[in-house]
Amino acid sequence: MSPLQVLQTHFGYSSFRLEQENIIQSVLQKKDTFVLMPTGGGKSLCYQVPALMLDGLTIVISPLIALMKDQVDALRLNGIQAAYLNSTQSSFEQEAILDKARSKELKLLYLAPEKLLRQEETAALPKNQSAKFTPTPFFNTILSLHVCLIAIDEAHCISHWGHDFRPEYLMLAHLKRALPAVPVIALTATADNLTRRDIVDKLALKEPAIFISSFNRANIRYTVEPKAGATDKLYDFLTKRKNESGIIYCLSRASTETLASNLKANGFDALPYHAGLEREQRARHQEMFLRDEVKIMVATIAFGMGIDKSNVRYVVHMDLPKNIESYYQETGRAGRDGLDSEALMFYSYGDVTKLKYFAEVEGNQEQTNIAFRKLDQMAMYGDLSSCRRKYLLNYFDEPADDYCGNCDSCLAQVERVDGTIAAQKVLSAVSRLQERFGAGYIIDFLRGSNSSKIPDDHRQLKTFGIGSDVSKEEWNRIIRDITAQGYLAKSEGTYPVLKLTTKSIAVLKGMERVMITQSRAIVEKQEASETIEYDTELFDKLRALRRQLAEDENVPAYIVLSDATLQELAA
Ligand code: ADP
Ligand code: MG
Repeated sequence: MSPLQVLQTHFGYSSFRLEQENIIQSVLQKKDTFVLMPTGGGKSLCYQVPALMLDGLTIVISPLIALMKDQVDALRLNGIQAAYLNSTQSSFEQEAILDKARSKELKLLYLAPEKLLRQEETAALPKNQSAKFTPTPFFNTILSLHVCLIAIDEAHCISHWGHDFRPEYLMLAHLKRALPAVPVIALTATADNLTRRDIVDKLALKEPAIFISSFNRANIRYTVEPKAGATDKLYDFLTKRKNESGIIYCLSRASTETLASNLKANGFDALPYHAGLEREQRARHQEMFLRDEVKIMVATIAFGMGIDKSNVRYVVHMDLPKNIESYYQETGRAGRDGLDSEALMFYSYGDVTKLKYFAEVEGNQEQTNIAFRKLDQMAMYGDLSSCRRKYLLNYFDEPADDYCGNCDSCLAQVERVDGTIAAQKVLSAVSRLQERFGAGYIIDFLRGSNSSKIPDDHRQLKTFGIGSDVSKEEWNRIIRDITAQGYLAKSEGTYPVLKLTTKSIAVLKGMERVMITQSRAIVEKQEASETIEYDTELFDKLRALRRQLAEDENVPAYIVLSDATLQELAA
């Protein structure tokens, strides 16, 4: 079976996302592989698919017990032989699972990293990474299994520079050294250049293939508000979103409790979450949030790693996060379903001073300096008057346009302009492609992309490439804008496709003008280049149709309608 067939038969998905397929190929070629992909991007399949294709057992290192269980349950539901081992199980249970692994009845075995390490050694590790290591009996058991792949999820946990250092992760290099022929795939959603190099180093990856997906989360709107009056602003914000699900991050445990109970007293549906709550209570609150039984989770950063809840509509930061990695990871929990979502942060410079006080690492000037620098970068984000998305993406070494149109800075520099032509181009592409594609594809199509995803029959359509003068980001924004105004609709589901609405027809017919918000810079650029290809044959056809429909004479030449739309027009 090919990776695609495995994806379809075992997981029920029709196609790979982003770089998934290339990553899987790299693993199948037994290369060490490093994957940096945003939260919700689909990292799990990058090792789950190879696990089913390779001969032997795939060990998955995963830091969170709750997460491990969810993943294994999901795999089992798909009929895949998977199990996990962690400290919540009795030794009898653990032995039974190892027996299964020995008799090759398992394809994937999830492991908590602390299983590989003696307790007393954990304490020694953070200060001295090369601490002498005596393998636990368990470590030796793992070596005796027929291991074909080691997957290390949340790999940034191995680095001090990440935001979630776990000393047990340092043991994984020993695992790699003991099994030099077994490929390792390390996956994370959070790593700047420094952390990235640190991960590759500490895991002792050999000439790894490196895959870095775009970090842009176009559907998340970034906003920063001054912290003065934060509570009132928060209530305003929440009142407009009463039926929506969201996370509010606070710095301290106490403030999560206070805020949650104040919210409750004011009729909002909120619960606190922090590491100081009883284990059962924490689990219960998390579960309730996942099941939509409570709308608002007021939490410390203890909440959220790996949580796969698709309809989180907003993430609010009441206090400044300690670095951009954490901030991006936390805001990334919003809008995993691709629908418009908000990231709102309250900011005052006082937070920087306060956090610096906590960030000092006694006796380690280098670490202190790095922590301070990261805080300064976070503060710069708060103070920014240019595009916030660009700042975030550049932070992760990803280039970006000066203008995203979906953050408070960009939105402050816009004006309403006549966007009828742009809207008509989008609507005619949606129509021509029979309302079967999402925004990403429609944009590639409009821009005449040479991506292999676009088949020849689509390339031959007249609408192909009619929007090549506008950037991807800009098209995304236009589509978001006209969707919000009801000229387009999005279907439900993980992969929403764009659909025409009753309002689209009037625009296509030239009977309604569409106003859109745009930056002055873009308006000027477009005014300079506004020439439209004139296609006689098509125009004649349309004219015939128009006559037939007895409509006005105004349909522009680049509008190409699908049969379905023509029928709708005729109706
Ligand atoms: P990550 O670990 O990168 O945060 P996950 O592996 O948890 O992301 O995947 C996020 C969601 O996306 C999951 O619900 C998963 O089933 C879904 N997903 C991943 N890849 C695909 C795909 N190719 N097609 C459809 N859904 C996918
Ligand atoms: Mg994951």
